[in-house]
Amino acid sequence: MADFIPYGRQSISEADIAAVVAVLKSDFLTQGPVVPAFEDAVAAIAGANHAVAVNSATSALHIACKALGVGPGDRVWTSPITFVASSNAALYCGAEVNFVDIDPRSYNMCPELLAEKLDEAAIAGTLPKVIIPVHLTGQSCDMAAIHAAASKHGVRIIEDASHAIGGAYADRPVGCCEYSDITIFSFHPVKIVTTGEGGMALTNDAELAKLMQLDRSHGITRDADMMEESDPGAWYYEQHRLGYNYRMTDINAALGLSQLDRLEEFIDRRRVIAQRYDAAFADLPVTTPWQLAEANSAWHLYVIRVDPAHHRAIFDELRAGGILVNLHYMPVYLQPYYRKLGFEPGLCPNAESYYAEAISLPMFPTLSEEQQDQVIAAVRKAASR
Ligand SMILES: *Cc1c(COP(=O)(O)O)cnc(C)c1O
Repeated sequence: MADFIPYGRQSISEADIAAVVAVLKSDFLTQGPVVPAFEDAVAAIAGANHAVAVNSATSALHIACKALGVGPGDRVWTSPITFVASSNAALYCGAEVNFVDIDPRSYNMCPELLAEKLDEAAIAGTLPKVIIPVHLTGQSCDMAAIHAAASKHGVRIIEDASHAIGGAYADRPVGCCEYSDITIFSFHPVKIVTTGEGGMALTNDAELAKLMQLDRSHGITRDADMMEESDPGAWYYEQHRLGYNYRMTDINAALGLSQLDRLEEFIDRRRVIAQRYDAAFADLPVTTPWQLAEANSAWHLYVIRVDPAHHRAIFDELRAGGILVNLHYMPVYLQPYYRKLGFEPGLCPNAESYYAEAISLPMFPTLSEEQQDQVIAAVRKAASR
């Protein structure tokens, strides 16, 4: 059997290793100077005023929902085609979750279906407090349209940009929060840049940033300006909210900060691979990724769609040949946990069709031309029968 080719893989340089080792030799393994430096660097790249680093994107989604006041009795809507964390964050807060079907071309939350569903909910008195559009595969949602639909009803927006650091929308970087309250990045090793585990919440709203800073560290503040006690001693701190320990360590932040040096290079490599795949599959009975004119994808994933009658056979044949294709994702509401909450098949037909046809091909910066050729040959063989 040929070597296995995974669908995603991190790229770690000698400089990355040296950056982590430097922290290990320093005074602080956590709560030192590197986390704030990483936050500043990501905020600058994304064009946002505030960045709050945490130990995962899942944690970031949770404290983002908390900062926007999501709690029991509230509703949160997201896309069905996402990792479960986008939706679980709302459940952590005791809110009810629901799903807006995807656009059949972009696979992102459909702005028209969102607008319709919001209009209906406004009449029924069941509007969500927050929506969480997800930039699937690294391609931004149509944020201007989503923002227009949401603002009409005073609904707040968290962008789940776990796939999309380095991407752009309407000539501005994903993360600038022009059309949202908060944007989330993930730094899991399969994502665009990694910290091992890690995430970040970006916002232009100082108040939201303050709430998220509190919630990532037990709801505790040492900032004298925020204290209720007027003349505390040097030992003193106050807990103002029921927060968590969601802190990022300086070890993780050092890896992330070093990785940012190659962000552009990573995206360029991914873009070249995507173009190569596009050309190689143009004559096959497969659907290659459609791109929104205003978006410049970070190409976290390259998803093809195949005839649903042959989907399983093509998937299995690629896997058997050592091409470790994947499927991102099963509609969240079809997960057993969500089925027990009362969700049933048929809720989002576009998402269910997508799930019956989608295959994620290997896509990562160090995927060699030889490996790309292997993937291309295997897909051509499996998909053309
Ligand atoms: C990876 C991912 C997450 C969770 O990220 P973690 O950093 O692993 O917690 C959330 N949403 C989406 C869309 C993801 O792909």
